[in-house]
Amino acid sequence: MNKFGNIPALALLLFVPWALSACGEGLVYDPASAVHKDFSGQQALQQVQLQMQLGPRVAGSNSLEKARLHLQEILAEWGWQVKRQAFKKKTPEGEIEFVNLRVRFVGGTADGRTTDVENSQIWQRPVLGVVCSHYESKKFEAFEFSGANDPGSSVAVLLEMARVMAGRPALAKKLELVLFDGEEAFVDYTDTDGLYGSRYYAQALQQWPQKSRPRWGVLLDMVGDKDLAIRVPADSPDFLVGKLFKAADELGLRKYFGLGIQRITDDHVPLNEAGIPTIDLIDMDYAYWHTPGDTLDKLSAESLQTVGQVTLLMIEKYLLDKSEL
Ligand SMILES: [Zn+2]
Repeated sequence: MNKFGNIPALALLLFVPWALSACGEGLVYDPASAVHKDFSGQQALQQVQLQMQLGPRVAGSNSLEKARLHLQEILAEWGWQVKRQAFKKKTPEGEIEFVNLRVRFVGGTADGRTTDVENSQIWQRPVLGVVCSHYESKKFEAFEFSGANDPGSSVAVLLEMARVMAGRPALAKKLELVLFDGEEAFVDYTDTDGLYGSRYYAQALQQWPQKSRPRWGVLLDMVGDKDLAIRVPADSPDFLVGKLFKAADELGLRKYFGLGIQRITDDHVPLNEAGIPTIDLIDMDYAYWHTPGDTLDKLSAESLQTVGQVTLLMIEKYLLDKSEL
């Protein structure tokens, strides 16, 4: 036996040169080293709970800064480093400073801290894909909004993905995780209200050298409802939708995923417009959306696990092998 399993020696000789040139070392999908199975819905649910303990996490607030420090600390434990992308923008409530969190894998040290040299290297590394979610919660004056599903669930799935991908550095190093600030509109979604973070990120991405830009994106938003029904909006790229359904099928979880008939205003839109084909995994059929009832008891570990495992399988099996990095 070798690390490719019990493939006959001749097949291996023919296979290896292709594998190395097309995919880079360690990126060929091998069920034995697949990480989707490691994703734990229970652990993800705990991550939702930890975010909620910080209270409402509104753009520009102190509690959102606490959330940033909290996320940074957790990610560092698993070898991921956070780079802040801060910018100021006029909103219906005046100028606000927003902070996107760009996250890349370093590995190596237990606390994820590195020297400056290593630091600059990880940010120059070309990536194949970007996996993202917004992390701030919508501002409400009338009640305390704790945002278990929106955005707690998708942030938690991203964190749990980061934990399990740390066990497969070759995969982790080909991705950038992004936590967007300012997805929510202060009044209503318009060209100038809402999607603050993803608009800024997509614009900044135009400055990256062409060869280091991500080839695709996966956005997660409201993925924890007990009664899970992910409906991919109609403006998600077909090739990504196909891969999502294939991965869901293989895990026997296809019934939770479908195609929506409408476009949705969400963080995938600026990325798609910037030429990064991005799919949005969203479950808008949630009675507690933007209400005081968006609390932990409406979520389930099973739903978080379903989305986490399917997303990971889609990435590790279908979005890395055929790329040419
Ligand atoms: Zn929302």
